[in-house]
Amino acid sequence: MRLLIMGPPGAGKGTQATAVAEHFGVPAISTGDIFRANVAQGTPLGVEAKRYMDAGEYVPDAVTNNMVRNRIAEADAQDGFLLDGYPRTVAQVEELDAMIAATGHRLDAVLCLTVDQEAVVERLLRRAEIEGRADDTEDVIRRRLEVYAEETEPLIAVYATRGLVVEVDGMGEIDEVQQRIFAALDSVPQS
Ligand code: ADP
Repeated sequence: MRLLIMGPPGAGKGTQATAVAEHFGVPAISTGDIFRANVAQGTPLGVEAKRYMDAGEYVPDAVTNNMVRNRIAEADAQDGFLLDGYPRTVAQVEELDAMIAATGHRLDAVLCLTVDQEAVVERLLRRAEIEGRADDTEDVIRRRLEVYAEETEPLIAVYATRGLVVEVDGMGEIDEVQQRIFAALDSVPQS
């Protein structure tokens, strides 16, 4: 399975991505997690990414595209992957298309988690208290939601025209959402 998980910040992508990836036996690849690991280790990539992340802006495409290209070329991703947080721009969609086409495979589905905006802000503020993420302050959260609406939400329509979108209601308990996701994805034909 080659899957994407999409939805606004705070939709629960990371939580659900782990469960879905395990279900299909593929790695969950989160660009946000890779960036955060690099920030924590103080790598050059991390130093570059941090400036953007702390402001709620997207890291430049050139940086992100290379990082994803290298990651999906690794051994554990040869039979499939679940991408969380990528693509986020139209340019990234084109890059990903080329990366997948180069391997002779295709994308199987784009899982879209829907949530309501105020609930999302609540969730992120709560996460800020627990995890202390630098980009979970109220101003930065609002900016991330704005950038998502401008840059990333339009990608759902792009994938919808390809018939790839599987929409799932992301509100409710984690387990409940997970059951909805499995039910929705089990009807997707695997390549
Ligand atoms: P969120 O919870 O907001 O969805 P993520 O953990 O997925 O957050 O990403 C955190 C930050 O990492 C983003 O706000 C952005 O700065 C950067 N980032 C992650 N993925 C991408 C991407 N595909 N393109 C550009 N920037 C990205």
